[in-house]
Amino acid sequence: MGEIAEFTKKILKFRDDRNWKKFHNGKDLALCLGAEAGELLEVFLWKKDTEIDKQALQDELADVMYCALLLAYTYKLNVKDIMDAKMKKNELKYPASKAKNSSKKYNKL
Ligand SMILES: [Mg+2]
Repeated sequence: MGEIAEFTKKILKFRDDRNWKKFHNGKDLALCLGAEAGELLEVFLWKKDTEIDKQALQDELADVMYCALLLAYTYKLNVKDIMDAKMKKNELKYPASKAKNSSKKYNKL
């Protein structure tokens, strides 16, 4: 079993031990992901990079991934497969020959 599958299994046990499955529909998991992304942004809000609380960063990033893994599980999406597919798309959108050293969006390259 790969790491992603192991984490998903742990998350599902955590959820099922608390009988929270009834709350975990796609819409609410997507909202959860957005809310946790907001909490992640708060870690950086009004701070210089040297002032970032690394523990808070770890916690909020883990919360984001918790929601993302549950969302993927809910829609029976294989995380590795969807990441591979998206990276292939990104390779086409941002070819290194055009995107190297550039922060421009793909449609402006
Ligand atoms: Mg959080």
